[in-house]
Amino acid sequence: MKTSYLITKEEILKFYKPVNSLTHKGLQGHGVIIAGSYGKIGAAVLASKSCIKSGCGLVTTFIPKCGYQILQISNPEVMVLTDENTNFITQINLTFIPQAIGIGPGIGKELATQKGLFEFLRVNKSPLVLDADALNILSENQPWLELIPEKTILTPHQKELERLIGKWDSESHKFQKTIAFSEQYNVIIVMKGAPTFIINETTVYKNTTGNAALATAGSGDVLTGIITSLLAQSYQPLEAAQLGVFLHGLTADIALPQTGYQSFIASDIIKNLGKVFL
Ligand code: AMP
Ligand code: MG
Repeated sequence: MKTSYLITKEEILKFYKPVNSLTHKGLQGHGVIIAGSYGKIGAAVLASKSCIKSGCGLVTTFIPKCGYQILQISNPEVMVLTDENTNFITQINLTFIPQAIGIGPGIGKELATQKGLFEFLRVNKSPLVLDADALNILSENQPWLELIPEKTILTPHQKELERLIGKWDSESHKFQKTIAFSEQYNVIIVMKGAPTFIINETTVYKNTTGNAALATAGSGDVLTGIITSLLAQSYQPLEAAQLGVFLHGLTADIALPQTGYQSFIASDIIKNLGKVFL
């Protein structure tokens, strides 16, 4: 096992940046969320709402056409770009280079979406967070991983991790394989679970916040939005991953006494974000 650290408030405060009173939205970063397909536009709503609620100055969400009104009504602070296709993403045309892009929640694995992702990765110049079906598509097309920028943040849950790195025989084997993968592709892996670990080629960081209330639909989509927001605000990728995971977990720790485990939903993470920024 490599060097390992705990992600605690004390560690986070070493790089945490309070908002400067003279800032304006143009200085707070522009984050883009590429997410959603027919029946899963909620993933795009959750990820873009958590992105704007985590300090990003501007957020644009790229979705298939069917999500246009849903997004504009549910997230009036967020700008929307739509694909030419109605039900799923096929061609990701961004007319600007954002400070960070989070891609994957709810996008599905249609062949046209896979091709769209490939073309996007070929031309993309922004730092990335890859989640959900973006990871599943890359698991099936591993050579495309060569196209992603250095220090891209991957946020697999256990099943997505298994698709990405293959089966493991034991916990320590899982860590070995994940570290080797992060070394091979020069990426940061947020190994989501109870607890979540963040892994790069040299170090394993263990998160100290969060609880089983987070085991609920959309929880990971919200995390993608938070980390993308922090990356857009010019945190280094490893910092954005650590701070994002720490704050995401803290919302659940704060909300638990009010909601209990059963009634906590992903929107409660977003609702409590205002209480966790340090
Ligand atoms: P996803 O499966 O993509 O929706 O992501 C689920 C999120 O909830 C991840 O950030 C997990 O770490 C977190 N999570 C799920 N179950 C638990 C648990 N039992 N304890 C702590 N965090 C959890
Ligand atoms: Mg997920």
